[in-house]
Amino acid sequence: MILTDTPNASDVLARAPFRGKLFIDGAWTDALDGSMLKRKSPAHDHVVAVYAKAGKVDAERAIAAARRAFDEGPWPRMKGAERARILRSVAEGILARRQEIALLETLENGKPLAQSLAEVDGAADLWHYAATLARNLHGDSYNTLGEHTLGVVLRDPIGVVSIITPWNFPFLIVSQKLPFALAAGCTAVVKPSEFTSGTTVMLAEILHQAGVPPGAVNILVGPGSVVGDVMVKHPQVDMLSFTGSTTVGKQAVAASAQTLKKVSMELGGKNPQIVFADCDWEAAVDATVFGIYFNAGQCCNSGSRVLVQASIAEKFAAAVVERSKRVRVGDPLATGVQVGAITTDKQFETILAHIHDARRDGATVALGGSRLAMPGLYIEPTVLTGVTPDMAIAREEVFGPVLSVLTFETLDEAVQLANSTLYGLSAAVWSSDFTTCLSAARRIKAGTVWVNTFLEGHAELPFGGYRESGIGRELGRFATEDYTETKTLHMHLGPRTDWYVPNR
Ligand code: NAD
Repeated sequence: MILTDTPNASDVLARAPFRGKLFIDGAWTDALDGSMLKRKSPAHDHVVAVYAKAGKVDAERAIAAARRAFDEGPWPRMKGAERARILRSVAEGILARRQEIALLETLENGKPLAQSLAEVDGAADLWHYAATLARNLHGDSYNTLGEHTLGVVLRDPIGVVSIITPWNFPFLIVSQKLPFALAAGCTAVVKPSEFTSGTTVMLAEILHQAGVPPGAVNILVGPGSVVGDVMVKHPQVDMLSFTGSTTVGKQAVAASAQTLKKVSMELGGKNPQIVFADCDWEAAVDATVFGIYFNAGQCCNSGSRVLVQASIAEKFAAAVVERSKRVRVGDPLATGVQVGAITTDKQFETILAHIHDARRDGATVALGGSRLAMPGLYIEPTVLTGVTPDMAIAREEVFGPVLSVLTFETLDEAVQLANSTLYGLSAAVWSSDFTTCLSAARRIKAGTVWVNTFLEGHAELPFGGYRESGIGRELGRFATEDYTETKTLHMHLGPRTDWYVPNR
């Protein structure tokens, strides 16, 4: 079903574009060379934002400010309780501006407004959760090392963190990193994707109003190859926290190795949903459709492969196709739309190329397969059947609304298929049998395995990938520890036994 109705869209688009500057050392500034960057809405091909575009020198200034703020400023020296109070205030500031943030997210990213609102609310929850961790970050002690020794293990904030984020969930992803780095006492330089910088720029204002001191967070808008490159290599940066593609992530790890930075990498996925014959049929069909079309399939966690037990495969694929036809695709500003536009021109072409290659390799296009016949970057919900494990479409991340259906006979075969890509971000198992679910879940190599559900998330639960899906985990109660160094205080009590013993 295609929706083109756009209530208020013309009013929204008639407004002046959002204007953003760089935020360095607590002040708004233009790029040193005066460069600018424009962003068009992928749904409307209309300029929705104009930014100062940072270059190498601006990136170096931002890093110097973060360094000063860490080495000399108040943030790392504050009590956890005080940092917690400021992080809570950021969360409240986000919620107070949720409509404004969500609208800009939709205009730049192309996702339906209701989903942007949910993203902003989820992000605010992460700031609240990180506030609880700011007061709970602690080390360890050993009183078991003998009469003369006391061991204390300290958690020291690691220092300056470079945070680089992608365009698919810009506000959520910066909120998976920044509040936890701040809770630990770190300072940061943040670079959102050049396609979706607006909401991160808005965040700078909220941070400032909440009392984050100058230089503790610096925000740069600019291309990865220039600004990101400086942030990844600079010797004054202690840690890199990156979310993006596996290809760029590998380059960033290699570049950061010159200065041996700690890295936290959240990368791509080719996530399987395994559907056994005894599943709750309705729930599994719906979650398969949701799992592939949510955010137009532009999710690292997208359920882009459904592995269906052979005895039900044909009927299940037919049910998925039928439900996919009813998914409402269209203008992300229109009420009731479930799937909006593809975020970038390049991604749009990439998705169509994947469909083309899958067809060439022998997959059947059971539904969709083309762009929608309307202005904007829209692709039809697409279901590919007859996909075999050797095909590229079964292994490579598409990052679009394209579902591959594969089949299996036994649990062993399902697990083997699930583990047959280089990725390992997430997976789901659908069965009414407890043993089937847990046997499969325990053997799947993925950072998250959902059992009879999909794409749910909680701040309390760690998130990250095995293998080429990444390094490290975000969220959960250990999230702040990732942004620390461990220091051992080895203390001797009482007289020490001399090493040098004079000749007798
Ligand atoms: P991308 O890798 O192209 O870009 C990510 C970020 O890296 C952007 O800010 C970009 O400007 C920057 N960048 C580009 N080149 C750089 C360089 N040489 N040095 C430093 N920074 C550079 O990814 P994208 O297209 O924005 O996002 C889509 C990808 O992100 C998908 O592969 C998706 O799976 C992945 N992703 C992963 C997660 C996760 O948590 N695992 C979440 C969201 C997205």
